[in-house]
Amino acid sequence: MVHTRLKCTDIKIVLSLNETASGKLRQFFLFRQCNFIVKFINVHCHINKIPQENEWVINNLYQDFGNLPDTGFFSAGIHPCYIPSLNLEEQFMALEECIADPWVLAIGECGLDKLSAFPMEVQLPVFLKQIELALYSKKPLIIHCVKAYEEVMRPLKETTFPLPVLFHGFRKNIHLAKALIHKGYYLSFGTALQFTSVQEVFAGLPMEYLLLETDDSQIPIRQIYQWAAQATGLPQESLILQMKNNASKFFNHAIP
Ligand SMILES: [Zn+2]
Repeated sequence: MVHTRLKCTDIKIVLSLNETASGKLRQFFLFRQCNFIVKFINVHCHINKIPQENEWVINNLYQDFGNLPDTGFFSAGIHPCYIPSLNLEEQFMALEECIADPWVLAIGECGLDKLSAFPMEVQLPVFLKQIELALYSKKPLIIHCVKAYEEVMRPLKETTFPLPVLFHGFRKNIHLAKALIHKGYYLSFGTALQFTSVQEVFAGLPMEYLLLETDDSQIPIRQIYQWAAQATGLPQESLILQMKNNASKFFNHAIP
């Protein structure tokens, strides 16, 4: 085991690197993230995407927490539609270890989904446990929420959850969006931004609480940025700067 303190003014991580291919790959990503100016921030991606030189990606891990890939930064959590039916306790232990890794910057996606095959009695304790893990690890939460906004917000309110919370894949109306932002929550928008109605919602919100993502789509993140620029009338450079500031704040992580 080699303890390597990497010189980087922007990313202050001390990594314990094995002298293995995986350690070297991580060093490469860190070098690249430090030495290229990031343009497009993708806060939620399921494709296990290897970030391009001008991208900064949070890939999502929703199972197999013992095998964190070496492809950059991650969020990790149990999705309310994919709750393991066997060995849930073991999965939580693996998740707890996984989120201690400095390359995991957030817990989730986790949350509640009224269209999930799992009943609320199964989903709720899984969600509550992940709120606990977020509190313990002091990492922000990425929320998956379908038709259950009240139910998701209740435990966050009860725990007076002090860390940033992001409702990802937002495509609902402006009233709900404003109510969530009023509580200090972030919203991230994806492919739904191609629709005028969603563009109107996006344009009507305070920019400091907004983020962009591709989720499980193959559409490139720069296309999502184009739709966001079209929605707001902002030059793409301003949008890029705003999203970078928002993501740095949300993940508590400096982005070059
Ligand atoms: Zn997702």
